[in-house]
Amino acid sequence: MKKILLYYKYVEIVEPQLIVTWQQEVCRQLGLKGRVLIAHEGINGTLEGSEQATQEYINIMNETPLFAGIDFKESIGEDDIDYFPRLRVALRDEIVGLGNKAKDVTVGSTGQHLTPEQAHELMAKPPKDLVILDTRNDYESRVGTFKNAIIPDITNFRDFPDYIDQHLDEFKDKEVLMFCTGGVRCERATAYLNTKGVARNVMQIEGGIHRYVEKFPEGFFRGKNYVFDNRVTVKVNDDILGTCDVCAKPCDEYTNCVNASCNKLFISCTPCLKVYDNTCGPTCQQLVKENKVACRPPLQTVIQRNRRFE
Ligand SMILES: [Zn+2]
Ligand SMILES: [Zn+2]
Repeated sequence: MKKILLYYKYVEIVEPQLIVTWQQEVCRQLGLKGRVLIAHEGINGTLEGSEQATQEYINIMNETPLFAGIDFKESIGEDDIDYFPRLRVALRDEIVGLGNKAKDVTVGSTGQHLTPEQAHELMAKPPKDLVILDTRNDYESRVGTFKNAIIPDITNFRDFPDYIDQHLDEFKDKEVLMFCTGGVRCERATAYLNTKGVARNVMQIEGGIHRYVEKFPEGFFRGKNYVFDNRVTVKVNDDILGTCDVCAKPCDEYTNCVNASCNKLFISCTPCLKVYDNTCGPTCQQLVKENKVACRPPLQTVIQRNRRFE
């Protein structure tokens, strides 16, 4: 049995390059694949490996004072599936990219943490000034989100501060509950809103969607949870929130256009995939037909390199 780990910790790292080298060594020795980002502000990773190797990794981290006490979210994987193509340990300016506008906003001003149970209770009996805000990108929210959540029209977390600045009125004197996949983005997203001083209270779901749906699979989160490995999405419950990009019928299956140079990640139902030969539409279909472009295997979803992950 394989396991997929998702974790983060905001902690001051004085010499991040040393941690990069150390992490590369630890992960290689344990045969782990995935991505680990390290910055002065902390560490953020998602790794796959055998049950034993991932447990050993958790032990090593816990024995390291700087990284002790991390909340490791675990998913079960299958032995014969590769969830990541390789191991990548990288030095970054931030562990999630909130960009220049928020560069002075640290987790020092982060929002109040609610456990999944507390968040559930709040949504079950919502005060009338409660605003639920999805801090993820639109392609994540399309296939699954919390009931009544506001979904910002952003494709990159870097645009989140602009979104907040342009919608301050919506948060004025409100109780704002934010969420993301595993919690790492909300730590600074809530901090950013806090620095604006408009909301009455800013909260976040501790451990994000991952921890909430473990406790409440039929709760207020509906649909699928978008993840940043080869699974692409993880089904939480039977609701279908997305629509086919071609015919607009309810559908939540992502695929990549077989035209390798297009590579668009899109939602398409099976009949539409047939009509357009597994491409995103007539333009790419024509290019493929005329053998003008290289093709990738059909019905494949690939991790988008330029996409930020948790
Ligand atoms: Zn369709
Ligand atoms: Zn295409």
